[in-house]
Amino acid sequence: MDTNTIQIPGLPKPVSRVALGTWAIGGWMWGGPDDDNAVRTIHRALDEGVDLIDTAPVYGFGHSEEIVGRALAEKPNRAFVATKLGLDWKDDKPFRNSTPARIRKEVEDSLRRLRVDTIDLEQIHWPDSKTPIEESARELQKLHKEGKIRALGVSNFSPEQMDLFREVAPLSSVQPPYNIFERHIEKDILPYAKKHHAVLLAYGPLCRGLLTGKMNASTTFPASDLRASDPKFQKENFSHYLAAVDELKAVAERRGKSLMVFAIRWVLDQGPTIALWGARKPEQISGISDVFGWSLTEEDKKAVDTILARHVPKPIIPSFMAPPERS
Ligand code: NAP
Repeated sequence: MDTNTIQIPGLPKPVSRVALGTWAIGGWMWGGPDDDNAVRTIHRALDEGVDLIDTAPVYGFGHSEEIVGRALAEKPNRAFVATKLGLDWKDDKPFRNSTPARIRKEVEDSLRRLRVDTIDLEQIHWPDSKTPIEESARELQKLHKEGKIRALGVSNFSPEQMDLFREVAPLSSVQPPYNIFERHIEKDILPYAKKHHAVLLAYGPLCRGLLTGKMNASTTFPASDLRASDPKFQKENFSHYLAAVDELKAVAERRGKSLMVFAIRWVLDQGPTIALWGARKPEQISGISDVFGWSLTEEDKKAVDTILARHVPKPIIPSFMAPPERS
């Protein structure tokens, strides 16, 4: 698969395979928001040909969606928006809730914040074990029939949970973590997406900045930054990952690419994927066009695997991000 765009079933036309991820733009868990820079970042992404933006109500408790709505109001009809639902929150602490009532409320709230009449892609953010998946899917299907949603997806679901969803409603997309360092989905979710013709929106394609190559042993994060609680960025683990990054950089350089571009290309070469590039400053939207028009060779892929086997034989999965069930 080497095209610049991909068709998400249910959307009127194909979208760019590099999408903008706007979690950091909401501020929460990323050290606070910077709205004017955020709007400029979104505009820069649109100018660079990105036409899919991924957001969620929980990103800044409405703030990311509001910023996306503001940015798109200034440049209407330039991008499709993927948002999510199924997380409620109290005192800025999220918990899972995909009851039909919560789903309907979240769709109405997202439409208002995003300033649109229809949500292009609506995804259940995390499975809620206290609500039967079929009930959530049925409510989403109703909202789709009412014209409030174009396409449906899920995030952080297992194949079994996706099977239950698909018994009730068509599944256009899946959104798991996926990058050079986080590959556990290759055993089940990626094959599932391929088999069922769902597009895989890969989150954290830069492994939260690790694969930009800009970090080193003295990089630290404030307590309000999620990387302060990500085990990959803690002492000994961090040094193994940084050693891998150094060698990956050399592989990328052999192809005349930055590590960041190489890492995004790696995601796009694995199947029907979209990379959700997380950025919050306009200058971070650089090199998107460099991602297209080439592919990793088998030799490149083997070199990546060898580096991982040497430095991170037991990769850490991003389970630290999972929100709690509701009590
Ligand atoms: P990411 O895309 O792997 O990494 C984002 C990080 O990369 C940011 O920390 C940013 O640095 C850095 N970066 C980006 N472009 C850069 C550039 N040109 N130069 C230098 N650094 C650059 O991680 P992510 O934001 O966690 O994930 C991407 C998106 O996936 C999110 O925004 C969200 O839409 C989605 N997501 C979904 C879920 C889910 O449960 N469904 C979970 C996580 C993420 P700074 O820190 O310096 O700004």
